[in-house]
Amino acid sequence: MFGLFRKKKEIPVEPESKKVPVGERRIYVLDFDRTITILHTGALAYGNELTPAFIQRNIKKGFAEFVRKVINSGHGAYIASYSDDANADTVEAEALSGHDLIKCYMDLVFGQDQTIFTTSRKNEAGEIMSKGNIIANNTQDYKQHHLDIILRQEGLDLDNPEDMKRVFLLEDDEEVVRFFMEKGCTIIVPFSASRSADTAATKTLFTSYMPESFRT
Ligand SMILES: [Mg+2]
Repeated sequence: MFGLFRKKKEIPVEPESKKVPVGERRIYVLDFDRTITILHTGALAYGNELTPAFIQRNIKKGFAEFVRKVINSGHGAYIASYSDDANADTVEAEALSGHDLIKCYMDLVFGQDQTIFTTSRKNEAGEIMSKGNIIANNTQDYKQHHLDIILRQEGLDLDNPEDMKRVFLLEDDEEVVRFFMEKGCTIIVPFSASRSADTAATKTLFTSYMPESFRT
């Protein structure tokens, strides 16, 4: 299936990402459906929804440039989604969901060899060999699960307000936004979970809406 996708044009990445002082490194946590994508995938895709043309149309303009800017500035990025691997088994057709679906989108955006967004790799014993930055589990816990993994991987402390401020959330689910706000994270539109969520869902999120809070 992945062979269908020809490698996209080379993405210019600066030879070395800038090093930012440890205390200034931001971690951008991006929801997938309706934050990165225009249409909600329903956490499952098959048939025509897996064609490069469909996927390219469904990615918001400016997403790739935004991520490249984040990475080249020395910050980190994660995708935190309720899309779940188990969904692929719910239809007869050859389908992608969860980690595979998001990885498929990212490979199309950044090229087949991209290492900007990766899934975790396990050895034969099922132990995790390398951690990834795509977290896709339908935990329905306001993404506490996702946040826990991110904090652990990034060495951030839930009880340290300065650490939590460095977590920047882009998310169109108001309840998740509210939860991250309560934890002290930085959100797009401060003070209002609903406006933050609405803003994340706009098609022009990465092009026309670039407020101070997530300018790199
Ligand atoms: Mg969403």
